[in-house]
Amino acid sequence: MKKISLLLLSTLLTLSASAQFQLPELPYSYDALEPYIDTKTMDIHYNRHHGAFVNNLNRILSDYPEWQGKDAVYLLKNLDLLPAEIRTPIRNNAGGFYNHSLFWEILAPAGTAPISARMTDVLVRNFGSFEAFQAEFERAFMSVFGSGWVWLMKDQEGKLYIATTPNQDNFRMDAERRNHTPILANDVWEHAYYLRYQNLRAEYVSDFWNVVNWKRVEELYFSF
Ligand code: MN
Repeated sequence: MKKISLLLLSTLLTLSASAQFQLPELPYSYDALEPYIDTKTMDIHYNRHHGAFVNNLNRILSDYPEWQGKDAVYLLKNLDLLPAEIRTPIRNNAGGFYNHSLFWEILAPAGTAPISARMTDVLVRNFGSFEAFQAEFERAFMSVFGSGWVWLMKDQEGKLYIATTPNQDNFRMDAERRNHTPILANDVWEHAYYLRYQNLRAEYVSDFWNVVNWKRVEELYFSF
């Protein structure tokens, strides 16, 4: 009995030492964003795509103990200091991990987190009108060639701007913008929408507005 407990304990310790990254809990069920984001897409996107970033990070870092125990933002801000042979895989996988963790947070079932007057004012101040903001965000989304992300960013003076990144890049890895805060994002990878929308990318980004968690976006805007 004692032997079994010790074995279990050492197994648990080994697991917790190597599995430093974990999938964050999804704050709603896979079908909660229907019909705008379908159940199967949510399941595959969360478990297999986000899950792969988690597994890859833990596997890559298992050979680099000095880089274990750091969070994704730390790794992304310090890519230049990483050993050359893991710089690109860490960039892609820590980027993917960070981007998707934010993405799940800024989504919510339709009608549960509508925009407040206070947040609408912020967008009107920055973009002229809520519709102008949406149009610029959608234009940016459509302008990404291949895979990437579109961001609503807050700079250090509190000003908002829209920008895109390729692949799983984000601005934490950008020396000039790493202290800007992403407050809203949309995933432009085909895996985010193809099962339901196929090539109709414009329809996906237009439906996206139905499932934005404006409560969370507002919290992010006012928390930095
Ligand atoms: Mn994705």
